[in-house]
Parts: sequence; structure tokens; C-alpha cells
Amino acid sequence: MFFMVRASYPVLLPNTQFPMKGDLSLKEPLILSWWKNIKLYDCIRALRKGRSLKVLADGPPYANGPIHLGHALNKILKDIVNRFNVIYGFDIDFVPGWDCHGLPIEAQIEKEYLKKGVKKREVSSHVLRTHCRDFAERWIEEQSVAMQRLGVLGKFDDLYSTMKSDFEACVVQALFELFQKDLIYQGTRPVLWSCVEQTALAEAEVEYKDITSLALYVKFPVCSSISDCGLNESRTSVLIWTTTPWSLPGNRAICYNFEFVYVLVEIEDEDSNLWKKGERIIIAQDRISCLESALGLKKYRIASVLTQDVLKKIFCHHPLNTLGYTFKVPLLPALHVTCDVGTGFVHTAPNHGPEDFLVGVKYHLEIPETILSDGTFSECAPGFTGKNMWKTDIAIKDALLQANTLGGYHEYLHSYPHSWRSKTPLCYRTTPQWFIRLDQEGKEGSLREKALHAIQEGKVSWHPKSSSLRLANMLRNRPDWCISRQRAWGIPLMFFVNKRNGACLNDSSIFQKLYERVQKEGVDFWFTDEPFLMFPELSPQDWYKVEDIMDVWLESGLTHRSVLKNRTTENFSLWPAWAYFEGSDQHRGWFQSSLLTGVALENRPPFQSVLTHGFLLDESGEKQSKSKGNGIDPVKFTNEHGADLLRLWVAHEDYEKDIRVGDEVFARVKDMYKKYRNTLRFMLGVLNGISVKDLLPIHQLDFLSRRVLYNLYHTHTELLTTLSLDQVTNSEFQGRCLNVQSFLKRVIQVCTDLSIFYLDVKKDTLYCDASDAFSRKQVLTTLLYCFIFLCKHLAPILPFTTEEAFSIFGKEVLGLGDLIDTPEWKKDLSLDAVELLSWFKKEGVLQEREYWSVHLQDIFSPSSCFKDWDGSTCSEHILGIRSQVTEILEIYRKNKEIKSSLDAKVYIDLMNEDGVIAGAYKDFYETILIELCMTSDLKIRWNQACRTVKVEVLNWNKCPRCWKRYSDIQESQICQRCHSVLMSENVC
Ligand SMILES: [Zn+2]
Repeated sequence: MFFMVRASYPVLLPNTQFPMKGDLSLKEPLILSWWKNIKLYDCIRALRKGRSLKVLADGPPYANGPIHLGHALNKILKDIVNRFNVIYGFDIDFVPGWDCHGLPIEAQIEKEYLKKGVKKREVSSHVLRTHCRDFAERWIEEQSVAMQRLGVLGKFDDLYSTMKSDFEACVVQALFELFQKDLIYQGTRPVLWSCVEQTALAEAEVEYKDITSLALYVKFPVCSSISDCGLNESRTSVLIWTTTPWSLPGNRAICYNFEFVYVLVEIEDEDSNLWKKGERIIIAQDRISCLESALGLKKYRIASVLTQDVLKKIFCHHPLNTLGYTFKVPLLPALHVTCDVGTGFVHTAPNHGPEDFLVGVKYHLEIPETILSDGTFSECAPGFTGKNMWKTDIAIKDALLQANTLGGYHEYLHSYPHSWRSKTPLCYRTTPQWFIRLDQEGKEGSLREKALHAIQEGKVSWHPKSSSLRLANMLRNRPDWCISRQRAWGIPLMFFVNKRNGACLNDSSIFQKLYERVQKEGVDFWFTDEPFLMFPELSPQDWYKVEDIMDVWLESGLTHRSVLKNRTTENFSLWPAWAYFEGSDQHRGWFQSSLLTGVALENRPPFQSVLTHGFLLDESGEKQSKSKGNGIDPVKFTNEHGADLLRLWVAHEDYEKDIRVGDEVFARVKDMYKKYRNTLRFMLGVLNGISVKDLLPIHQLDFLSRRVLYNLYHTHTELLTTLSLDQVTNSEFQGRCLNVQSFLKRVIQVCTDLSIFYLDVKKDTLYCDASDAFSRKQVLTTLLYCFIFLCKHLAPILPFTTEEAFSIFGKEVLGLGDLIDTPEWKKDLSLDAVELLSWFKKEGVLQEREYWSVHLQDIFSPSSCFKDWDGSTCSEHILGIRSQVTEILEIYRKNKEIKSSLDAKVYIDLMNEDGVIAGAYKDFYETILIELCMTSDLKIRWNQACRTVKVEVLNWNKCPRCWKRYSDIQESQICQRCHSVLMSENVC
């Protein structure tokens, strides 16, 4: 600090080279390139070799465009966690990765072909795959640069990508293992199908959107004559309700539930467009109300109740019988039929739904392929062949009308599956696909049971806790995992199938040879004739190779194999990962696929803890998306305002919920940043030129300083406990998990506490007391610890700003460590000061090697004497009194009765209970409170009837140097303290 003139009297003011203005957009790139020069990530690893290892596994983003704010949020959160581990002395292993295969890239390349007039059929799969690869590579490069610009630390020079041959080989090997564990089978199943993308979609690629469909009531005329219950086939029909008219050509049955009562109803209304008087329908008794509400029928009577025996025997005509649907439609019992909507009868098209399919298999129904892969009707749909299924609703309605089988129609709003990527509606199609079996009983139960057990048995820490329930519910309800896709850009399902019996070849030596080949050169050869040349014993007359590629979720779900299990370090296993940390949508995606493959292959989940974060919304609560134009481009933002601002925003958000962003939010963040920067700047200015003579032993510090150090100690210990979360077991796990949210809050709280209470309160001491005053040394000693603590703890959040501050700290303060070698100093120092100077010494070594960085050395662990303090209860008590005082002072200030708190004297009455809490500190209360409340005088009366605070506005004269008011000074005269300070400093 330097003497500077304030109100014509010199005071000590902070002084540092650390500027007030951030200029982050200019400085950050320089710091970044310096980190690259010194290979910061490798340095960190080298310094922590042999320490406990924390692997945060990176869920791969998709390499098909620039990064968006969601990517930035995710990577910054992970980076904050990694960097906290680093400063707490753990070793980290962060390998960023990219998901490269799959539809979006292939579709993009096809679009480019289309623009150039090239037909996809004319392009060999090899050329197509090369184009896809180049495309993905370009985006990996761009995204990688952008993520590093955000300050994300990791092994970017050796990243993983799902299209590298070693990754592909690992996936192929895992595929063979799953197959040999009898977890993979080929079967026909209805799968959710995208007609636009022309492939089956994974659960995780499906999203539900509300759409309005044309819903129809359709009459299936009864064709069997059952005389004993008076059914007359020419006038009787079974009434069904459907929201997917396009599925009617595929109808082969009607399902009912034998738990419901079904009745024969005779219509008594006069003839209308759709209904004739005397017409009879069969419907569930509970659904009769729909006759009036949905069909407008007013007069009808229940003619009879139908028994199970009768229902069982009924056959109907297809409602489009006249168009060529000449088969008979049976009534079949099925438990999936409900009575909450519709008529109590469910039209069943075995091709178009999982339940329908099961009914079809059970009763040996025909399963016609009425809809082709591109969404047009096949030859099996007479009357509609060649038409687009999404555009035939009206045509089908008209055909029913023509055939007198339409009972009614209306618009219906419902939730319907859509492709996550193309946003187009999906349909169920039954096609030959490959599946991972979830339900077949093995020795230890089915995969589904094992995975559910793994979620619940307590080996994984879930944050938030509800996350495990969410995953379990999704897992409980999902169908078998369809892993095949009818596309080119991916890893092929490398199986040979026997043409005669459809059996899949199970030969370990062939699997091994394929694995080795993939490892050498990737999977491209599979798309040529090579596989048969490799294995002359397999004749193409008898065998075919599977051309399908695999679901990309299976690839990324195996990162734990390829990125963790397959790499080894000397001392530590990287598997299972310490943590997975992704957006909450990954319960359907990556968390689930990783869990299933982990349990299937290794019998446990591949992670010890799972953390989730929410999604981004704009300021009006809409989901951030580029197409809506409300997205904030993180690259542009970083280039204009700095990555540290973006990171500060992430740290301050309640990321477990959905997060709103927009200009207003970022304006607030800018203000916050200024506060952090000024706090660092103030401390640097105060500490500038501090010498070892300024260091006091901890036990000689004043009450407020002890309080600050006490809090540092506890924050440090808490964070260390949180991060130390290792192989958790059930009992240990209670109430203990990696809660990043709470630990960010802790750090922010320490920073705020410092700047609001301590720094503000101690300004009088720092500015006005003598440069060698004991009171100043108390503050300097405290602030030295605080600065190291704060700078290190803010480093994970603000890596650039703290690096800048720390380098200036090095220039202005670091010389302290040199003294440790002089024995005469050491003998005069307290133990805690020796610890501190040793830390400085280690830092000094790094500085000499010119790679001194805030991110390299471990945090200085607060000495245990920080915690040996009995004032914590009192300090809460005192703060309570203080806020009562400030509240009243604030009223005086608002009423313009005082300008600052120094214009006031405060009288405080305290009660008996207060005295009990104060205990041994009772005598210090006045001194502490006068400092805390920053008043010119303060008096306490103990043992009063109630607690009151009174304010007296002082008309005493004000010392022009320290601005305090005194009863015993003349106008413009400086006070006794200031006078003696100026005398001793010789600046009078
Ligand atoms: Zn003074």
C-alpha cells in the first residue's frame, strides 16, 4: 500500500498493477496460448502423478455444427468440477470426445448431393462414408477449438471419436461379447420408424409432441350370424375409435377386454347421413355416453348384454371390404384395452404397434407390410397403394363414408411420437431388426432386472436423488433395445447369417479376426466384398453379411469400454468413471445406454456418480433454439465479452433446473464479474509488498479475522469431503454425494462474505492506521490466506481472471517464500506461518521454471489452528445484532438524517440471554460491533428487559482524515489516532 493524499491528509491506499478493467476478450486468448505453450494439462497430470484419480467421463456431443450454449453449459460445468479436483490435489483424466456416426451427418451429406444433382444410389457407400467422415472431422476440429476457448481443460490433443478405428474395434468387440452372452437377437418387431429418415429410431431419438389428428369412429359390420342373441348381421356392427386412420388398411382384428361389459345398442334416431334408424352397434357399456357426446345420437336403447361366449364367436367384415379387404376380422380378448377413451374396442393392426403385434403373434394373424419404408402404402393396401400415409386420412374417411361404415369423425389433440431430429411424425412398422434382449432370464436375472437392481443397490450416487427414479421408470417401461439401422454411416453389425435357417454365425475365431482388422483399418472393408475374401469357408451362397449399421447410442454407450476400460494407467483403474455429468435428457440416452452396456458386460454401472443439469430457456421461458433465433452463440459471446463471464453465469445458475438466459441475465453477470474482480484487486493492492514482518501467528488475530479464517477452514474441509467421494457403499452414501451446486454456492458465499463484511469493515484499519500497526498486521495476515484461498477457489470458475491476478500476486508478493531458507527468520515464526511460507517456496520453484500458474499447485490447506476458535456461536450472534443496527441506520440514511454510519452513535440494549451467548466475549462486543457497524461510537447495556437499538445523530466534529466523529476535536482538526499515525510515519 502507498500513502496517498485523501482530503489533504495522507492515508494508505491499495496499489496494484491488476487493472480494474477486465479486457477479457484481449487477455484471454493470450493466457490460453500461454497454457498451450506450457502444456498446462500435462503439467497438472505430471505434478499429481500417483495421487487419487477422478475421472469425469465426457459424454460425446454430436459433430455436426458449431457449439451452442447448451454445449458450453455442459462443458463448463464439467470443467469446473475437474478444476476443483485439481486444486484439491487430485489427479484428473478428462478426455473430450465426439459422436460422429449416424443419421444427421448422413442426411446432411445427402442434401449436399441433392444440391449438386448427384443421386445417392450412384454413390458407393465407401465414397459416402468418406464424405461423412470429412464432415465430422471438420466439426470436431471447430468444436474442439471453441471448447478450449471457453477454458475447458482436457486431453484435446488425444481426444476420442466414435469413428476412430480403435473406438470402432472396441465397439465391435463389445457387440460380439453381447452376442455371445445371448443378449442379441434378430427378430421382427414393430419399431418406431421415421419415413423421412427411412430408418428405425432409438427410444432416445423419439420425442412426443401434441398434434391434432383426424379421429374416426368406424363400424365393422358383423358377418357371423348368431341367432341366439338376436344379432342380425346386416344391421349390426362393432364400433371402434381410432386416431390413426392410416392404420386401418393394416387392420386384422378387434380387441376387447373381458373385464368390461359389452352391450348391443339399437339406434332409434331418425335416419341421418351416417346412421340409420334401427341400426345396431356393439359397444362397451361404460362408453355409451360417447354415442351422444361424440356421435350426436340422441335416442337409443340397450337391446341386450353380450356374454363372453357371444363376443368370442363374432367375426366382422373389414370396413373397407368393398375395396378388396375381403378377409374376416375376429374379436380377440386382450388386457391392453382400456375404457377411458374410445368405445371399449381397439382396432388392431399387428404391423403398427407393439401390443397389436403381440396379439398378432399370439393369434397367428397375418402381419401385412401395408406401409413401405418411405411412408407410402404398399400393394397390401388396395385403394391407397402408392399414396403417402400422412396425406390419406381424408381419402380413408371418404372411402368409409362410401362403404357406409363411418360412424363419426372429429379432430383430436394428442401426444404423438416424432423424430427428435427431423421433427416429423413417426409410425410403427414391423421390420426385421436386431435387438438387445432385456427380459430373458439368465442365471442372475434379465438385463432389465439387473440394471434396475444396479440403479437401486446404492453403488451409484445420484444427484439430484430423483434422477435414479427417473432412470428406473424409463428402464422399466422401455421395449427391447432395437440396435439396427438401415443406413450407411456407422459401425456395421458385423454378423454373418445363414441363408437357409436364418441363424447368426457364432465363431470366436472369426470374431477375433474381424476385431483385429477393424482395429487396424476401421470398419470400411465390411461394406465391400472383403469379408467373404477374409473367410473363404463362408460361401456367399450360404451366408449373407448383415448390412445394417448399429444404433449410435450403442456406440456412445460403450465409451466406458473404449475410453476408460481399454486405457490403463500405472496405479489406477479408470473404470468405473468417478462421475457422469450431462443434461437431464440423457436419462433416455447416454446414462441409460451406458448403464445397460455396463451391466451387460461388466455386471455394474460404469459410473460411481451421476449428475444432471437442466436445459436452457430464453428470458420468456421458451427453449433456446437456433431455428427460433433466440439462441446465444457462445463463441461470439466469448469473443466479445470473455469466457470468464460465461463461466461465472454457469456457476451462479441453479443448473439443476431449467435455466433462463438472455441479455438481462448477462447484464447481471457483468455486474457480478466486476464485484469479483474488484475484490481480487483490492486484496492485491493491500498485499502488495507485504513482508514477513507483517505476518502474525493466528492466535494473535482479532475476532473478525479469526472468524474469516475459521470459515475458510470449514469451507475447505467440506469441499474436500465432497470431492473425496470414492467407491461409495450403502452406509457411507447417506447424505453424501457429489453436489456441485452446493459447493459452488459455498465458494460464492465465502467471496461475498469477504467483500461485504471483512474488507469493508477493515478499510479504516488499512487506510488510516500506521503502516506497522499491529491492527494492520492482523488484517494483512488474514488477507494473505484469504487471497490464496479465494484466488484458488475462484480459479475453477474464472480460470483466466484468476490466472491474471495470480501472476501479479507472484510479482508483488511471492518473494516471501525465499525467506524460508533463512533459519533466523524461521525461529521467530509461528508454525502456521512456516506452513504458509513453505507453500510459497513451492510456488516459487514453479515460478522460476516459468510455468507458474494458479491452476498448477495444490491449494494451501488451511492450518488446523484456523479451526481452534471458540467464537463461532458469538459471531453469528454479533452478526444478528449488526443487521438490526444496519437496518435502523438505513432508515436514518434514507431520511437524510445521516450521510454515513459514521455520523451516528448507537445505543444497544441486550437481554440476559444475549449475555449468556456472549460469554467470555462479552467485553469485546462493543469493540467488535463499533467496527462492524462502522459508527463513530457505540454503547451496549447488558441485562435489559428487551433488545433495542437506538440511534443518536452526532453533531461532533469530523476528523478530516478518517471521517470519524469525535467529541473532543475542533472543526477541521484531525483526531488523536490520525495525529499519532502521521507523526510516526513522518509524513505530517
Ligand atoms: Zn482520524
